[in-house]
Amino acid sequence: MALSGPRRLLRRLRDVMAGGGAAQARLDAVVRLIAADMVAEVCSCYLLRAGQVLELFASQGLNPGAVHTTRLRVNEGLVGHIAASGRSLSLDDAQAHPMFAYRPETGEEIYHSLMGVPILRDGRVVGVLVVQNRTQRAYDDEDLEALEVVAMVLAELVAGGELVDPAELVASDEIVTGPTTIDGLGLVAGVAMGTIVVRRPHPAVTELVADDSEQEHARLAAAVAELQQGVDRLLDAPDIAASGESRDVLETYRMFARDSGWLRRISEAVTSGLTAEAAVVRVQEDTRVRMAHVADAYLRERMLDLDDLGNRLLRHLTGDFEALPSGPMPERIVLVSRDLGPAELLEYDREHMAAVILEEGSPTMHLAVVARAFDIPVIGQVRGALSSLGEGEVAIVDGGEGRVTVRPAEEHRQQLREQESQRAEREALFASIKDLPARTRDGLDVSLNINVGLAVDAEQLEAVGADGIGLCRTEVPFMVSARYPDVEAQTKLYASLIEQAGTRPVVFRTLDVGGDKRLPYLEISHEENPAMGWRALRIGLDQPAVLRQQLRALLRAANGGDLRVMFPMVATVDEFCRARDMLDHERDAAKSAGEALPQELRVGAMLEVPALLWQLPALLAEVDFLSIGTNDLVQFLFASDRGNAKISRRYGILTPAALSLMRNLVQACEEADVPLAVCGEAAGQPLEAMALIGLGVRNLSMAPRRVGPVKLMCRSLATVPLAGYLDTLYDSAKASLHDDLLAFAKDHGVDIV
Ligand code: PEP
Ligand code: MG
Repeated sequence: MALSGPRRLLRRLRDVMAGGGAAQARLDAVVRLIAADMVAEVCSCYLLRAGQVLELFASQGLNPGAVHTTRLRVNEGLVGHIAASGRSLSLDDAQAHPMFAYRPETGEEIYHSLMGVPILRDGRVVGVLVVQNRTQRAYDDEDLEALEVVAMVLAELVAGGELVDPAELVASDEIVTGPTTIDGLGLVAGVAMGTIVVRRPHPAVTELVADDSEQEHARLAAAVAELQQGVDRLLDAPDIAASGESRDVLETYRMFARDSGWLRRISEAVTSGLTAEAAVVRVQEDTRVRMAHVADAYLRERMLDLDDLGNRLLRHLTGDFEALPSGPMPERIVLVSRDLGPAELLEYDREHMAAVILEEGSPTMHLAVVARAFDIPVIGQVRGALSSLGEGEVAIVDGGEGRVTVRPAEEHRQQLREQESQRAEREALFASIKDLPARTRDGLDVSLNINVGLAVDAEQLEAVGADGIGLCRTEVPFMVSARYPDVEAQTKLYASLIEQAGTRPVVFRTLDVGGDKRLPYLEISHEENPAMGWRALRIGLDQPAVLRQQLRALLRAANGGDLRVMFPMVATVDEFCRARDMLDHERDAAKSAGEALPQELRVGAMLEVPALLWQLPALLAEVDFLSIGTNDLVQFLFASDRGNAKISRRYGILTPAALSLMRNLVQACEEADVPLAVCGEAAGQPLEAMALIGLGVRNLSMAPRRVGPVKLMCRSLATVPLAGYLDTLYDSAKASLHDDLLAFAKDHGVDIV
């Protein structure tokens, strides 16, 4: 009997499943049915047991004595290989495959061809379904499709828990009742306590086989329309519409809700006989397996967006969309999930969201960008989080350390409560000085600015009381975009930023990509040392088209007003001059085209590469301003990778070398009358900022949240005694001057919080 597609088989399966009876009996009936329908001599079902072992649970055709006896390790034999890879396999000569493993008890040596598919549940392999034929049969795509669909039905049978205890299907830890600490990877820093809410990936799908495919197509179409409208509504909410760089991430998400490839795959699964829900799950499982094998962070991110949208679509189809985030929720939520998309996070009330714990996740994930914007700590790669973190338990999440403490001891809770109330007091204090100048006790004004991704809102400037934008990292929207934003799109982005800043200055840094900041559409071959590789201005000069377009967009965005542009990673004066020539060229072209030229155009360099320090006279003659990127400067000065946790705190600005360098630089800039700013992380650390001000820096740019602490420090500082004290430190032989400066601050009543 030739197979006419999965639909007929599905109908029969449905009858078996609906027939009731013990799960084992139904499983036996299913393998019999598949073997008959697919004209295969053998159909076997292996299920995963604790300890990563695949046990033969049912078989039509193999020796009945092998059932519940034959066991294979994941990655052992072809079945183990399918389980390990999560991918289907179809072979007309299975014994020729290097992974073939002979098990005498099954009597399987007489079968030549094999087709196997993983049984997937929530992105995990829970078993393998195999058919075998004596002849060298070449299974076709339709056969494979049919078997994959059946495997999905079996996944539901497995999930029922009768065949294998569900606890065996996940790597579960021992049950413990005292405080437990679990380590993961810190994705967004911050400490928060709350009650665990486990996010189940999607509502259970019970109806898998469709009675009427036409009707299912109609249900799907309606749900897709609702999904798209829902995403639009979610993203148009006022606080999200103005949420800075996270906005760009969410726009990409919106685009994915209309992705025709994704929607087509779901629709094809409906055509094959599945219900709309089952079709979504099928495409989702497929995406998850592919996700697990994709190393590229950007692609994984895209797939994660689709997974998130799949869950959302399922909720529209099953109707319990409202129930999930709006049910009774704890006051402070620690959300535990396998993975989470940026928009999923936003379904929860931001006020109540304390922290997020993920089984997966990477620092570049879009959720991290959005969570950072809302100050929500996130830890990723917490293995077994879903199974080991219990709903309703209290947890303390430390996003900086990448650590979660479940059932924390009372002292630990108390300590955190105290820290939280101190933080609230501090926030109130910062709010009370936000409209006051950052003026020292001896009357010196320091300009405090913020570092932003792109579409930052005016609120952030206003909210923290900053003087302007000292560093606009223009690469951020490039990083979350699927292709280069064209001149028009860039012009809009830059113009909206300038508009939001109003009369405050904005310093645009041209694209700083390469290193750890990758663009999906920019090919950079593997580099041993990407931080010192082909990045930032080096790319801009070697492939000038992109930099030119960006400069053109910046000139247009200024629309006759002021424009400040700086170039990153300048290593030689010549590089700066070539980049500035490009800008001049673009300006001349704009003039010829009759476009409005900036009223004032200031062009600066970032000082991140130490070599520039020995070219100061030539450099200062060329630049309109300098901005020190302390993150990269310290990295290159001390030969210390800024991303390597083992050494990233070992050196820094509060060292004799760095402070001496700064002092010389400040003096050189003063003599040449060139404005100098500092825009690396050090500018936002009160003690570091104190030292910088002490040696003459008057312009700092930092993450918005750092403005309050730095302003508080400034307003309590007298610079004259500090300058005198610093003079005694430049020649110190100490590794760090941190403790000395902290003691100075204490003795002189400088507020360091
Ligand atoms: C720096 O290097 O200090 C800097 C501000 O640039 P980024 O952190 O974006 O490399
Ligand atoms: Mg840098």
